[in-house]
Amino acid sequence: MTRPLIGVLALQGDVREHLHALQDSGADAIGVRRPEELGKVDGLVLPGGESTTMSRLLKIFDLVEPLRTRLAEGMPAYGSCAGMILLASEILDTRPDAQHLDAIDMTVRRNAFGRQVDSFEADLDFAGVAGDPVRAVFIRAPWVERVGDGVEVLARVPESGGAADGRIVAVRQGAVVATSFHPEVTGDRRVHELFVDLVRER
Ligand code: GLN
Repeated sequence: MTRPLIGVLALQGDVREHLHALQDSGADAIGVRRPEELGKVDGLVLPGGESTTMSRLLKIFDLVEPLRTRLAEGMPAYGSCAGMILLASEILDTRPDAQHLDAIDMTVRRNAFGRQVDSFEADLDFAGVAGDPVRAVFIRAPWVERVGDGVEVLARVPESGGAADGRIVAVRQGAVVATSFHPEVTGDRRVHELFVDLVRER
């Protein structure tokens, strides 16, 4: 089967981990920093990092409009954590000038799990991922507070008696996927494989 070429937005954040995860999952992968690079790829990963910083760098690198255009044309994309925030149609608790790319009809809240639980892990049932639950690493993560009709919920925080029980942490709208957590750090490649398959189908 052919290896699609998938870009990782390389302005800031955990770029290298996603490049490795994509290569392990049957894709060729390159960092994307310029509109010409964006034009070459079959799909794009928006990594974790700091969404407000990435938002500012998107403007400086003249990537906002090219990225909006490619997303509107149906380019597959996968956003993890800060990447999820950038793909949203509405962001709560961010800066007024922060960019959102409107690729998924959802409202996300930044740093939603609160200061006490800055980082935590959980085992999630993830729609479309067979076998064992997915070990999810959350790092100052957002959650999804609202999804539109066209958005499929892929995973929620499991019931454990905590305040975040049932919160939506993975979604898909068409060819665009987003997770609140960081599958690139666990060595489990199933979420990246799901995305690479989706890019191949397009
Ligand atoms: N809290 C970060 C933000 O608001 C996201 C953290 C992450 O990507 N690990 O952008």
